[in-house]
Amino acid sequence: MPFASLGLSPAIAKAVAETGYTDPTPVQSAAIPAALARQDLLVSSQTGSGKTAAFMLPALETLSTAPTVRGYGPRMLVLTPTRELALQVTKAAETYGKFMRRVRVVSILGGMPYPVQNRLLKGPVDILIATPGRLLDHMRAGRIDFARLEILVLDEADRMLDMGFIEDIEAVVAATPSSRQTLLFSATLDGTVGALARKLTRDPKRIEISTAQTRHENISQVLHYADDQRHKMRLIDHYLRGIDVDQAIVFTSTKRAADEVADALSSQGFSAAALHGDMNQGQRNRTLGNVRRGNIKILVATDVAARGIDVQTITHVFNFDLPRVAEDYVHRIGRTGRAGRSGIAISLAGVRDHAQVKQIERLTAQPINVQVVPGLEPKVTPSRRPNPHANARPGNGWRPGAARPGAPKRPGAGRPAARAGGKPNFAGAR
Ligand code: AMP
Repeated sequence: MPFASLGLSPAIAKAVAETGYTDPTPVQSAAIPAALARQDLLVSSQTGSGKTAAFMLPALETLSTAPTVRGYGPRMLVLTPTRELALQVTKAAETYGKFMRRVRVVSILGGMPYPVQNRLLKGPVDILIATPGRLLDHMRAGRIDFARLEILVLDEADRMLDMGFIEDIEAVVAATPSSRQTLLFSATLDGTVGALARKLTRDPKRIEISTAQTRHENISQVLHYADDQRHKMRLIDHYLRGIDVDQAIVFTSTKRAADEVADALSSQGFSAAALHGDMNQGQRNRTLGNVRRGNIKILVATDVAARGIDVQTITHVFNFDLPRVAEDYVHRIGRTGRAGRSGIAISLAGVRDHAQVKQIERLTAQPINVQVVPGLEPKVTPSRRPNPHANARPGNGWRPGAARPGAPKRPGAGRPAARAGGKPNFAGAR
């Protein structure tokens, strides 16, 4: 089904056409007509599914009509868990609204200076994109008038709840008119998210595009057991040199480990940088800008910082540490294989992480193929799981240490074991 049949007006259709998208994604096909009909929506869809346009396009359509209430306050509010995601939504609003009569988009994010935000909130706002805590600060200071509010979007609602925003969200929503349209997007609609969704929506249409089990079919997933952090560094080094990596994200579980791994990779000659919550917003934006421009090849990030990163050239995701929560695994690997491409996710686990591996496999309903790099075998593997794949090739056709067929040969490609014995440049890990 082409975009034209979804009932978007010419100004918005033209902006979509300029982005190069010809066909709506499944979540867009399902959500756009219902949202245009001003229905409330509960949508379970993944990051990477095109969910931002699924709510932004119909919302812009609504905003192209004259407001029924006078005032300066926002007509649309989007709540997001992180600053990065908020900036991505802001960009989408600007991109898709560029041919409309002026749409004033303001983002209010934690970690940014108050005076600038105070000034922005004094003027008229059409779309307000905010993280819940900071928004609530401004509301309490009387800087936001929701009298004009027509559309409320909760983006990645499950994540906002994980991050402890439930009370903030409830306080924000209580201040909005009950006549609003509410669109809730979440990886899952079960449990607490489901309960919140029922409270906030009226007779919603439920759209479930893909579940944990069906998504990420375009991403090859493998797992290596590693004895310690040094062993993990050797494996990562091996992969980064051996495969046709365009860009990669390496996930660590702590900010400190992110810095350490980024430093270690930099000193091994990779263009690597860390991204985590201890960095101020300016530093984070600069780093992400450099990743987007291709100046940084390997981003080493913690979960929260990496949320909302949408860089289509990321070919590989490495889990240097496994995530503590199985759902985060799905979010992490979803940073590759964006916009219809394929991707590779390589996880490194200690033997003690075996239970976590099982949890992830249960959530995704897919076993993760255990691999061994010749010369970099672990001394121990989980006892009840002898390694049946030792010396096997990964299932997606490439061989560790060798460039994929047709890939340009890179310096250092195809030197697995020799390098593996070398000294890893990774001192401070524990
Ligand atoms: P999202 O799920 O909103 O984070 O979007 C994931 C990626 O898909 C973004 O890079 C979008 O620009 C891209 N995208 C959104 N809609 C489409 C579409 N209809 N066709 C192709 N790519 C799209």
